[in-house]
Amino acid sequence: MTAAALSQFGTKHVAKGIGRLTTQVIESGSGSYITMVGGRKMLDFTTGIGVANLGHCHPAVTKAAQSQVGKLVHGQVNIAFQKPYLDLVESLIPLMPHKSLDTFFFWNSGAEAVEAAVKLARHATKKQNIIVMQGSYHGRTFGTMAMTRSKTVYGEGFAPLMPGVFSVPFPYCAQCSIAKHSDGKHNFQNCCMDPLLQLELLLKRESAPSDTAAIVIEPVLGEGGYVPPPAHYLARLREICDKNNILLVADEVQCGFGRTGKMFAVEHWDVRPDIMIMAKGIANGFPLSAIVSRKELMDTQKPGTMGGTYAGNAVSCAAGVAVAKAFRDERILDNVNARGAELRATLNAAKADSKTGAGDLRCPGSGVDVGVGMCAGSWVCVEDTGEMYGEGYVGAHDVDL
Ligand code: PMP
Repeated sequence: MTAAALSQFGTKHVAKGIGRLTTQVIESGSGSYITMVGGRKMLDFTTGIGVANLGHCHPAVTKAAQSQVGKLVHGQVNIAFQKPYLDLVESLIPLMPHKSLDTFFFWNSGAEAVEAAVKLARHATKKQNIIVMQGSYHGRTFGTMAMTRSKTVYGEGFAPLMPGVFSVPFPYCAQCSIAKHSDGKHNFQNCCMDPLLQLELLLKRESAPSDTAAIVIEPVLGEGGYVPPPAHYLARLREICDKNNILLVADEVQCGFGRTGKMFAVEHWDVRPDIMIMAKGIANGFPLSAIVSRKELMDTQKPGTMGGTYAGNAVSCAAGVAVAKAFRDERILDNVNARGAELRATLNAAKADSKTGAGDLRCPGSGVDVGVGMCAGSWVCVEDTGEMYGEGYVGAHDVDL
């Protein structure tokens, strides 16, 4: 079939509800590029939505998966341990942002891992409510639809969703009402007090701490606008959780695995989550997700309450081991930061040019200016006074700017 015929075939026979940016058909991918059926080569700014962080078909990951396919494809986790699963745990332990995070559970997708984190939080605390951030994206299952607050389209018409989910604003300096009405300078005092106050009020008025199991947050807001929080925000959130006996859950599905210039975004602010959720970059495209927690918390769940037919698939785990090794051997984070600095400089120059209409340029990690111009990591978003008109991801691989 020609490219056009394939595209028509897909439009006719593949569910419209998926929605896609383009009806072009990808045939192959290599590094930062994808090639469409018919031969058109494109720079893949999406990296498969934050997945192919090492670039498409990274040779070591491909080799590890190919080798595993010949040994064992499926070893069901509720039957026995399997070697690649344990190898992956061993590879991930040294990468964790805090040494207390030492006990793992693997799933297939990000949404399933978010649900696993909610299950664990509810079961361990014997409390039911979950607080999420406005603008957050956590998935498309019934539980995660209730938690996703980035766009109404995800949940519209599917009610009733999981009850007991409350939301508070994510601190976004450029849109902060307090900052806007002050002298225009952004600082911690006037930038994130508003959302923290809203949280304190929520705990007082709507979801009592004695009913609240967890606060789930993307440490850098993803789909909701690619927003890093102000410098001290996560530490304050940790304090509020500790004071009220609420678990802090970091959804690092999108911002983890090098995307912000550190292995995990929470490292920018040195904050320890009680549960961390991983997916996407964990296996560079093979279906795999995970939650990690401290052993005494994770092991509150009885045997049999976790697991699934494909959870922690052997080939995906072998790919994950190769990903962790590549991060180490190829000094991927150094490259992320070097490329991120180049991109930041280029986009800052574009922002300075009034003709581009660019409003806010941000990246986590600079540690200096938390407002306009903050940028030090691996991806950016350029906005036109609030309305996003373009967003770009840069993975850990080289990109020609
Ligand atoms: N959490 C976050 C922060 C995400 O960005 C995503 C996916 N975009 C998910 C959860 C859900 O992951 P999946 O699509 O693998 O279910």
